[in-house]
Amino acid sequence: MFENLSERLGGVFDRLTKQGALSEDDVKTALREVRVALLEADVSLPVARDFIKAVQDKATGQSVTKSVTPGQQVVKIVHDELQHILTGDEDPGALKIDNPPAPILMVGLQGSGKTTTTAKLAKRLKEKEGKRVLMASLDVNRPAAMEQLAILGVQIGVDTLPIVKGEDPVAIAKRAKTQASLGGYDVYMLDTAGRLHIDQELIAQAAAVRDVANPRETLLVVDGLTGQDAVNVAQEFDDKIGVSGVVLTRMDGDGRGGAALSMRAITGKPIRFVGLGEKMDAIEVFEPSRIAGRILGMGDIVSLVEKAQETIEAEQAEKMMKRFQKGRFNMNDLKMQLEQMIKMGGMEGMMGMMPGMGKMQKQMEAAGMDDSILKRQIALINSMTKRERAQPELLQASRKKRIAKGAGLEVSELNKLLKQQRQMADMMKKMGKMGKGGMLKQAMK
Ligand code: GDP
Repeated sequence: MFENLSERLGGVFDRLTKQGALSEDDVKTALREVRVALLEADVSLPVARDFIKAVQDKATGQSVTKSVTPGQQVVKIVHDELQHILTGDEDPGALKIDNPPAPILMVGLQGSGKTTTTAKLAKRLKEKEGKRVLMASLDVNRPAAMEQLAILGVQIGVDTLPIVKGEDPVAIAKRAKTQASLGGYDVYMLDTAGRLHIDQELIAQAAAVRDVANPRETLLVVDGLTGQDAVNVAQEFDDKIGVSGVVLTRMDGDGRGGAALSMRAITGKPIRFVGLGEKMDAIEVFEPSRIAGRILGMGDIVSLVEKAQETIEAEQAEKMMKRFQKGRFNMNDLKMQLEQMIKMGGMEGMMGMMPGMGKMQKQMEAAGMDDSILKRQIALINSMTKRERAQPELLQASRKKRIAKGAGLEVSELNKLLKQQRQMADMMKKMGKMGKGGMLKQAMK
């Protein structure tokens, strides 16, 4: 689905990775080409611009890693940035369908593939999650659309709500709800009417249905082949009705893929699934890491750079340990530790990993020690200068005030942090003195 873009980028990076040393100009030229490739793939201008800027900033700030070429490093940065613009926090494939019967509202323009997608998702829920699904068509203007859903239902073995002539969409939605409750269904899907363009009536109808159904998910189906239009349609639907995610259809076609790359950045809504054909199985969860890999087609380089970075991290850890043994534990070290703690799931996550820590956790909670402390402490360290972080013992009262103010906190909190850092430094020193292969070495393993 991203063949053209992938080819273009492949060309740019092939050249880049073959070069040994890279000048700033080399990188600039390459990134200009990346920008053109993105625009040609119909990625929106602001998204392309931000993307290039982010890559440039990271490439400039990064120190050169041994054993990989700078070009390879740039590929990794581009890969991570691609993944970043595609990713949200949520698991795109996990539909919220607890509390049966859970309503899923399907909206979109006519011809976008809404009915097909409704059936594809119903089949998926049935087969992958063992759910009982009821589908209902609300497209009262087009009897053929209602028939189409019924036919698909038979084909995939999923029930559809019987068609009652003359009923309006809100009444159908209510009947679907009743039927889903009485019939013991886990999920009921409402396939709303589509039109060729977004108009008042379409929106009013979808909103009325939304209000009676109270959907757990409102999925917007858009045609991926329409490029930036797909993004505009998504923006408008989200403004007017509110959507919880997007399904991009026809990604099997020769579309340029730009819609997929701009969607999240512009609408803030995640792409949840992509349609990859007319068959009922032709749907996939949208997985940013896989997509980023597919676009760049340079998975080997990405993992090579990852490995090199891991090696460097190990070397740094070794160096750090030597410093700790001498009692050198400054604010940079403390910051790193705090960040590590957050990464590992914060205080709760750390405690959960250590046996017998339940009681301590309760005490910490009682004392108001939660993750916000970690973040406040990091904010304090961030407002110190480089020199102050390295030698916090030199801090004067006036600077302390400024630092606390800079982080929006009290000086008392900074004093606590300083005390903590001193205690850690002392402890490290003691542990270091326990001889070679002592506790610290054990602990760092
Ligand atoms: P609706 O009007 O939005 O309900 O659209 P339909 O579900 O009726 O789909 C319109 C046409 O697009 C049908 O012929 C579908 O088979 C086709 N279609 C839907 N999704 C995809 C897709 O992901 N890929 C391809 N190639 N065709 C699709």
